Amino acid sequence: MNAPFVLRDASAGAVAAVPRSGPASVSLIVPVHNEQDGVDAFLETTRRHVDPLAQDGIAFEFIFVNDGSTDGTLLRLLDAQARDPRIRIVDLSRNFGKEAALTAGLDACTADAAIPIDVDLQDPPSVIPLLVERWRQGYEVVLAKRTDRSSDTYFKHASASWFYRLHNMIASSPVPEDVGDFRLIDRAVIDALAQLPERRRFMKGLFAWVGFRSATVEYTREQRCAGASRFSPWRLWNLALEGITSFSTVPLEIWSYVGAGVSLLSFLYGIVIVTKTLILGIDVPGYTSLLASVLFLGGIQILGIGILGQYLGRVYSEIKQRPIYIVRRTYEAG
Ligand code: UDP
Ligand code: MG
Repeated sequence: MNAPFVLRDASAGAVAAVPRSGPASVSLIVPVHNEQDGVDAFLETTRRHVDPLAQDGIAFEFIFVNDGSTDGTLLRLLDAQARDPRIRIVDLSRNFGKEAALTAGLDACTADAAIPIDVDLQDPPSVIPLLVERWRQGYEVVLAKRTDRSSDTYFKHASASWFYRLHNMIASSPVPEDVGDFRLIDRAVIDALAQLPERRRFMKGLFAWVGFRSATVEYTREQRCAGASRFSPWRLWNLALEGITSFSTVPLEIWSYVGAGVSLLSFLYGIVIVTKTLILGIDVPGYTSLLASVLFLGGIQILGIGILGQYLGRVYSEIKQRPIYIVRRTYEAG
């Protein structure tokens, strides 16, 4: 009962990319949070770059995920939808964060491929045709890599670079540096992502974890077109913690080695003191060394417990099994 042909698994890297042809549909997934001044400019610029692709049979749609905006964003979107039936709107019940909003958009997507893109035009729509071209060549993931981040602040640039370095040193699936959520993913990848059950979603890590054949396109990161970044240093720090704790248990496990090392050193030091006392007699009590070692050990213990807490908190929020986001209403054109 052997099948005459064995189809190789798409993720088994050795298979050459199989070009795609014929008509196809692509969804642009756009999370928006208080972006009323950005929506129209985004649509106008993006249309200019995607409309010509219709000649090649590529039909685009826009899935806007309104992530709990408190300004006029939703009204702007509805207004735009009345003029362009390719726009779909998923209105979330509150602000769930960009990662959850992206998940909502991907869940709503039924197209052959999806491109998550920021509404502030920092992910230039001019790159979209390049992403689509590589996808047509057969790649399932086409990454958009920033070559020049001079539009970001020095702090953001430097902290991002350190984060990637640390993350990739200890995580099981390395995240490519200078690649954001802006990328094209094939239907197969969207389906794979939908199977990942975790509630706390570090999208860049999940994208890397699912694998698939990938190609890279390079671009220059632009200045934000309207409003200000929603990501404060504190939010970025939390995103980094999320990334590391989601994809590595090294910070948890390292404590057994730190403990073993400190115990060994203490034991050796103990032998030295006892021997010294036996040979030279009772010494004057060493107040300084005593206090230093007590403080040092106390600090290390609290740090270790704190890291346990970071993981425990995440286990707790996963185990509650709450949905990743709640949709208030979906608006389809017509
Ligand atoms: N965003 C969102 N929910 C949030 C924060 C941001 O949907 O809680 C959206 C935002 O509207 C934008 C994208 O995520 O389309 C990127 O946000 P931002 O430009 O503030 O991030 P940065 O470019 O500074 O990384
Ligand atoms: Mg931005």
